[in-house]
Amino acid sequence: MNIIAIRDRLVERGKIELSDSFTGNPEADALLKDLDKHPHAFVLACVMDRQISAEKAWIIPYRFLQELGEFSMDRLKKLSELDVRNIMSPPKPAQSLHRLVKQMSTNFHLAIQRIGNQYADDASLIWKGNPSSAEVVYRFLEFDGIGPKIATMAANILARDFNIPFADHYSIDISADVHIRRVFARLKLTTSTEASVEQVIYKARTLYPEYPGIMDLSCWKIGRNWCKPDEADLMCGECFMENLCPTAALRPAP
Ligand code: SF4
Repeated sequence: MNIIAIRDRLVERGKIELSDSFTGNPEADALLKDLDKHPHAFVLACVMDRQISAEKAWIIPYRFLQELGEFSMDRLKKLSELDVRNIMSPPKPAQSLHRLVKQMSTNFHLAIQRIGNQYADDASLIWKGNPSSAEVVYRFLEFDGIGPKIATMAANILARDFNIPFADHYSIDISADVHIRRVFARLKLTTSTEASVEQVIYKARTLYPEYPGIMDLSCWKIGRNWCKPDEADLMCGECFMENLCPTAALRPAP
């Protein structure tokens, strides 16, 4: 097995892959991508990305825009925490914007205050000026509700999808979700199918220390599209890793 060849292909694909739609809604995606006029939308979406599907979390800034008619920092700063909670929990419970409305209303409100106080209303200062990846991850970690997984994911999206220049990419780890852990095991990059999140993160750092997170999207797409949990459902013939993959090599010819 040629681990270097496997790594190189994952890296190469990681450099050309882009995220699919963030929300499934073109207008909501446009708001998130508007880093010039609404950089706080991207940050607030990251704050919401917890315990619900990413699509549902990332559309929340757009729901606020629809409710308020604008998404300027001036308007957002006028919202009390109760105002935020009222927008997040419409009369019908089924329409709540988040499963954890109370906590997420607090976090959303605190994030607006932090962007106002620490970044003078300009959230793009979090990533402007060619900062180190560690500094960017640290700045996201300062927001209530954002842990290492979301902080590194945020830095990764900024670097990969939005081409934001960073001084380095050392601190952008792989986000080791269930798809990525499974693909690492099938490619025999980890020795156990039960490898922990930490084991996968450190293996990715070992393989490509200059930017471990660059393998994130290629592995995630493999896991979601072809490398199914049940071995009987594997679609190796369509996977771009097939000719390098030890698991595929052991499978009987179709
Ligand atoms: S070739 Fe097959 S087993 Fe290997 S990563 Fe791709 S889908 Fe998974």
